[in-house]
Amino acid sequence: MKEMLENIQKQAIDDIESSLNLKELDIVKISYLGKKGKLTSILKDMKNLTKEERPLIGKFANIVRDCIENKIKKYSEDFFKKEMIIKLEKEKIDISIPAKRQKIGKRHPLSIVLREIEEIFFGMGFSVETGPDIEQSYYNFDALNIGENHPSRDPRDTFYIDSKTVLRSQTSPVQIRVMENNSPPLKIISPGKVFRADSADATHSPVFHQIEGLVIDKGISMSDLKGTLETFIKTLFGEDTKTRFRPHHFPFTEPSAEIDISCFSCNGTGCSLCKNEGYIEILGAGMVHNKVLSRCNIDPNIYSGFAFGMGLERIVMKKFKINDIRLFFENDSRFINNF
Ligand SMILES: [Zn+2]
Repeated sequence: MKEMLENIQKQAIDDIESSLNLKELDIVKISYLGKKGKLTSILKDMKNLTKEERPLIGKFANIVRDCIENKIKKYSEDFFKKEMIIKLEKEKIDISIPAKRQKIGKRHPLSIVLREIEEIFFGMGFSVETGPDIEQSYYNFDALNIGENHPSRDPRDTFYIDSKTVLRSQTSPVQIRVMENNSPPLKIISPGKVFRADSADATHSPVFHQIEGLVIDKGISMSDLKGTLETFIKTLFGEDTKTRFRPHHFPFTEPSAEIDISCFSCNGTGCSLCKNEGYIEILGAGMVHNKVLSRCNIDPNIYSGFAFGMGLERIVMKKFKINDIRLFFENDSRFINNF
């Protein structure tokens, strides 16, 4: 029996030495030391030995077992170290490989110009006010002195949610809310989205942006309006830009004017951008109507003020020579990347 044990020891050591990795080593371990392993099965035959032989063979069997176990332990540690080195090598980050280019978004042309316009008005002491996109028809029409039968109230022009609620068709309701909740002096601009029941084409969109302004104080006159808007126009379009005020009618201002600027493409000589007019219409403005002031509990005998409004898309289209308003809302990065 001692001879059999010696053979098993020799065989086991051969097998351990010829195993190539942890997995193979594990199989060798099970085949000798496992429940049905070769060494385990031999030890089960110990009961057939004589009383004298048993302790001697037992002692020897333990030596063989220790020898196999130690050998496996040593090999196992070596394999573990080697495999860990290979694993770390594989997971190493090669910092010399060029990084994947990250796509960084760009500011939308509407945001670029809006920021520029806001900065100009901040410089003149204005602050920014905003209001809800979904507005009571009172704020969108009545408070602005827009009569019951005015065409802009028609559902073909304005989106109604119910008879008293609309998607605001202008940013002017913000002016009313500001006047109701604050006492003069007031100096604000209110940029934001407005909605009109227009089908989209090159020059119309059911959603676009307006920027309105309001100044209320004692002794405000038409010359303040002219000075403020001329400063704004020259800063945005250039010092040489000429302005032209034309009389107009708006229900919420009296007197009212439309303001044109000299074409920045042809400098007033006439081109396709200005349709040979030499001027481009850009703003509506006027002195706030007494009825509007009174409705907002501002005494027109003490205070006066002016208001103005412009379409952001129109300005951006002229400034960057964009010929289709729909490009602003298509979210095509090839378009946005041009600015
Ligand atoms: Zn022109």
